[in-house]
Formats: sequence, structure tokens, C-alpha cells
Amino acid sequence: MPLGPDLVGQRSETVRRANLGAIVRELHLRGPQSRSELVARTGLTRTAIRALIGELVAGDLFLEERGAPVGQPGRPSPLVRPREAGVVVLAVSIAVDSLAAALVGIGGEPIASVRIPRPRGHLSLDAIVEDLRELVSGLPVDAHRAAIIGIGVAMAGLVRRDDGSVSSAPNLGWRDAPLGERLPAAFGLDVPIHVANEADLAAVAELRRGAARGADDLLLIWGEVGVGGGIIVDGKPLTGVAGYAGEVGHMPVNPGGATCGCGSIGCWETEIGERALLRLAGRPVDGGPDEVDALLRAAAEGEPGALVALAHVGRWVGIGLSGLVNLLNPRVIVLGGLFARAYSYMEPAILAELDRLALRGPRELARIAPGALDVDAPLLGAAELALEPFLADPAARLGPRAQLVAAAGA
Ligand SMILES: [Zn+2]
Repeated sequence: MPLGPDLVGQRSETVRRANLGAIVRELHLRGPQSRSELVARTGLTRTAIRALIGELVAGDLFLEERGAPVGQPGRPSPLVRPREAGVVVLAVSIAVDSLAAALVGIGGEPIASVRIPRPRGHLSLDAIVEDLRELVSGLPVDAHRAAIIGIGVAMAGLVRRDDGSVSSAPNLGWRDAPLGERLPAAFGLDVPIHVANEADLAAVAELRRGAARGADDLLLIWGEVGVGGGIIVDGKPLTGVAGYAGEVGHMPVNPGGATCGCGSIGCWETEIGERALLRLAGRPVDGGPDEVDALLRAAAEGEPGALVALAHVGRWVGIGLSGLVNLLNPRVIVLGGLFARAYSYMEPAILAELDRLALRGPRELARIAPGALDVDAPLLGAAELALEPFLADPAARLGPRAQLVAAAGA
């Protein structure tokens, strides 16, 4: 049935915006779908879906195209999919060992991406901004300029979310570095910027596109030199007052342990971080990812020293996780970064400690999985962060024109 302008006029603007948001989020999270699938998944009527898809197509954000036949007779239904030029974000990741950048569209797939290794050691804010500017200049930013709605940054450090200032990043030697203020101008982009901790963003990416897909309560542990955590409760990231929540690496677990980089003693990081693992295996503690790779190769060949070190760290991972499982009652625990790579060697010790120490109720409900997105998890999470304002209200990007075109064409 045609949808007349009267009906459109009567429809509450709030409902229209919420419905557009529901459809766009559905397409973003699950990929291209037919109108019937969208009807089934959103609970909206066929008529409403037609009008709203009309708006998204008229606004040049989505298109409808024939899907491949799926075995049934008759015409295949057209699939609604994002236009590559519709809405794009620039995602950036500042990790301990690498810098990465990507242009990402609706659906979360990178349109183009680039990653370069970064030598360890302190670097000034100016130096990192310059390195990132150069890295981003290798992406087709100009070709997508009109579509770029925001910048998302994943940072190995403690980040204040409201202004993207880095309160501390020990591996870079930063304190109170105004990163969020500097980057848009460096990239020549006048769009909003969102900066967050890399583990928080890895959690979002693993939840939406990786090992925790479909879960609403997630705990992610991200291990490199430092150990970070990302916590999602009932579908929402737990940020705390300023964005500092989730610093699980600095949970005191061993009062008789080693001094931590943060100045405290016996933090979880001093027992399970990269340096602890390398020290236990008798390797240079500052050897970085190359030494970790060598250690994992040795473990694969069955070298007892390597296996013992991995099991020892696994045991401490399990001890810390037991407390966190009791505290958070997560559905999935994702182990990312170093822990994903070493997972198969640590798993028995981790599970044994969880079974021994955690409360039975929350322990039985928690599934433990290595991360599925590897080193890209924080970068993909940064893209999700920058896309979020659009997902929350796609109508703001459409404007009244699309509504008129869609109504006239319906
Ligand atoms: Zn600490």
C-alpha cells in the first residue's frame, strides 16, 4: 500500500528517528539483509520498513540490490546494503608495538587500512602525531572526505573520554597529553574525535564482530607489556566516571610481588604481563614481540622451560580472573593480544584456577575464549566508537530531503 504524505506527516518524528536507528544498527551489525529479514528482526511493519529504507536509499547511505538466488524458485529479494561512500570513519590505533589507521564504513569492514611497526621506547606527542599524519596520508582520505563523520582512536594508555586527553601512557612516557585536541587538524579533518583505551575498544569489537558476538556481558583482558581490561555490562561499556574503569592490570594480586610500572606492588600485570612471561622463560624481559614469538615457537617444539613459564603465567591469569568472574558475572571472557596468541598453552592452568577459586554460579556461566580479531581488535573498536553517534541517530545525517524524496517516491 502506498504510504501517503499525510501518514508520514502524522508519524512522530521521535518514532521515525528511533526506527531508522534500529534498521541501520541491524544492517551495521548483521550485514546486508532483505526487507523481509528486517521486518522479522526489527518487528516493524512491512510498510514502515519500505518507507524507512526509501529514506536511507534517497539519502545515498544505502542501496538495494538483487541478492543471489538461495535455492527457492522465484525472484531473490533485493538486499539492503551500505553504500561505500555513504558514511565513513577514520580509525586509528596507537599500540605499544605498532601504529595503525583505517577507513571504515557501515558494516564495520575496513575500506582501506595500514599498519606500521613502532620501535619501543618513549616518543613525544609531536612525534606520534607526525607519524600518524604520515600514516593516514597513505589512506584514500580525499576520496572519502565528504563521507567522513568522525575519528576514533584506540590508545594504549589511560584516556579521559570527554576531551581525548591521555592521562598516562607509560610505554610512551606521556602524562596529560592532549591527543584528542591535536589529531583532527593533523589529519586535515574538521570532524568530532573520540579517544578511548585500547582494551575498552577491543572489547566492543570482539562483542560486535569477534569471539563474543551475541553476548551482552563481556570481560576482555588485553595483554601486551601492560595488561588492560574492557568490561561490557548489559551491552554497555563500563567506563567509570572519566573513562578510567577496567584497569585490571593494576589490581593488586600479590603483596609480596614485584614493583609495578605504576609504582604499586604486586599488580596483576607484574605476574601475567609480557615481561613476567619472558623473565620466567629465561629470556630478555624487554625483548618484545620477537622474543614472545620465539618463546611460543619453543613451546610448540615442546621445550619444557617455555611450557612451564606459560603454565605459570596461565595460573596467575586464572587467579585474577576468578576474582573478576565473581565480581562481574560475565557471559564471555575474551583473552586478547598476547593471551590470545599464547592461549592454547595457558588454557589448562587458567581453567584449573577458575574451577578451584571462583564461585560455582558465575564460573559455570562464563565461557572463556581467545580473541578472534587479533591485533586489529582495538582499531575496529575505534571505528565502532566513531560510528556510534551516527548509529544512535542516522536521521541527523539524512536531513529532511531524504524524507521528502522517499515519501514522493513511495
Ligand atoms: Zn600497577
